[in-house]
Amino acid sequence: METVVPIPAVPFVPVHGTSAVFPVRRIYCVGRNYADHAREMGMDPDREPPFFFGKPADVVVPGGGDIAYPPATSNLHYEVELVVALAKGGQGIPASEALGCIYGYAVGLDLTRRDLQARAKDKGQPWDTAKGFDHSAPIAPIRPVSVCGHPGTGAIWLSVNGMEKQRGNLSQMIWSVPEVIAHISGFVALAPGDLIFTGTPAGVGPIIASDRVRCGIDGLGELEIRLV
Ligand code: MN
Repeated sequence: METVVPIPAVPFVPVHGTSAVFPVRRIYCVGRNYADHAREMGMDPDREPPFFFGKPADVVVPGGGDIAYPPATSNLHYEVELVVALAKGGQGIPASEALGCIYGYAVGLDLTRRDLQARAKDKGQPWDTAKGFDHSAPIAPIRPVSVCGHPGTGAIWLSVNGMEKQRGNLSQMIWSVPEVIAHISGFVALAPGDLIFTGTPAGVGPIIASDRVRCGIDGLGELEIRLV
């Protein structure tokens, strides 16, 4: 097949402990899936359920590392999140069958231009420039379920320059991982290669150039980035 422009490279994330990689098809994200974070964003989690948005697949930063401070913002925020990597998909997946679709899990960062997000919220505009910018999804190597199991509980934390900023527990998620998969697959067909960022606990805040961000989840290792 002749292509009129070069075929775009498939983004990938390493798989922990092997030389194999996980190819990324789509990235879905859950908003306000921890009650304490919903409250710090000025929302009432009892009245507003979680919801979804997306990032382009090619904004992943496999393994973290140095990331350039992005343009067009002066309020870049960190959000540490449990990331689900799918081996199977489908439409209308019942929560009772959702765990069987999962290849593995990883620690991820949902980097956010909070100033652009606030402006978009004010004007009723989409979040793409706030959430879907280049290098906005650093992700640690994926751990297969065969190694890490299905983490339903465990600490999720983040520090900036050695100072702890976020600490929550996976058990605090409003929608559990099976519920997230069931909800999303009610709107779109999920497929192998999809990543789902499942939301962040309270404590989000700004980072600036030269900041070092470390984050982790019990049983899933750590992820580190440095803004340059
Ligand atoms: Mn998020």
